[in-house]
Amino acid sequence: MSMDYIPLAGVIGTSVVHSKSPRLHRYWLRRYGLRGDYVPLHVTDANLAQVVKTLPKMGFVGANVTIPHKVAAIELADQVSDRAILIGAANTLIFRDDGSVYADNTDGYGFTASLRQSAPGWQASNGPCAVLGAGGAARAVISSLIEAGATEVLLSNRTRPKAEALKTEFGSKVRVVDWVQAGNVLEDAATVINTTSLGMTGAAEFRVPLDGLRRGTVVTDLVYTPLRTTLLQQADAAGCITVDGLGMLLHQAVPCFERWFGKRPDVDDETRAAILG
Ligand code: NAP
Repeated sequence: MSMDYIPLAGVIGTSVVHSKSPRLHRYWLRRYGLRGDYVPLHVTDANLAQVVKTLPKMGFVGANVTIPHKVAAIELADQVSDRAILIGAANTLIFRDDGSVYADNTDGYGFTASLRQSAPGWQASNGPCAVLGAGGAARAVISSLIEAGATEVLLSNRTRPKAEALKTEFGSKVRVVDWVQAGNVLEDAATVINTTSLGMTGAAEFRVPLDGLRRGTVVTDLVYTPLRTTLLQQADAAGCITVDGLGMLLHQAVPCFERWFGKRPDVDDETRAAILG
């Protein structure tokens, strides 16, 4: 690698203008005095394959992949990690020196790393995990919960067949609960995770009844705009331990940054402030 080589990374998607990833990776590059840059890359479906083929030829060491390319990214890679196969989607590409493309998924890692950091003592095996939602994010969450030793995942989704499909994939630890009953499982849960987009600025309100929440239950929301969602506010009021969705976003970027730029970055208050500021 010559002295003039500046390693580049970026996020590939169709609405990357508001992505927090460029700010995060640039902050870490500055903080650790590393050469490199990270840019938003607006790429349509039709151009995805060509872009992934071309980026390594212009100094890119890798990229994040976001909506709507997470599934297609798997098909474009030469090699795919086991966890990306299990999740059925990739959020990270690594362009190797030999020209090959490696696809991985760090969302599940980010999810459990965030809980471990912000809810010390949290373990997936502490009791049933209630997962609301069965979209792409839920796939990453469920696979990482099972990998982390969860014994029971109570899964509830508005469109029940999508939850049933995840049960078929992830096995007997998953129990599907009808969406109208979602509030009823909170009482038994040691961990509650909202993976739906409900409660997000601009989306529908989160309306699952929360009176079943108990003191000490760990409650986390993948939605991070706003940072303190209705779910987290009500969980706080019920004496739960709450973890916001920004932690997952920051932690999923750690293994990406390490592989691209060669340094494992810290996720701390300073990092959060840099991203929120
Ligand atoms: P997705 O694949 O589109 O799934 C959306 C989920 O929300 C589905 O389960 C869907 O249920 C449910 N939903 C949407 N509108 C609903 C409504 N009105 N009533 C009930 N359920 C509704 O999206 P995703 O990729 O999984 O992302 C989900 C959320 O997680 C987004 O807000 C995203 O920003 C967030 N996220 C955060 C992180 C992080 O790092 N913090 C990472 C990934 C995702 P149906 O199946 O019935 O449609």
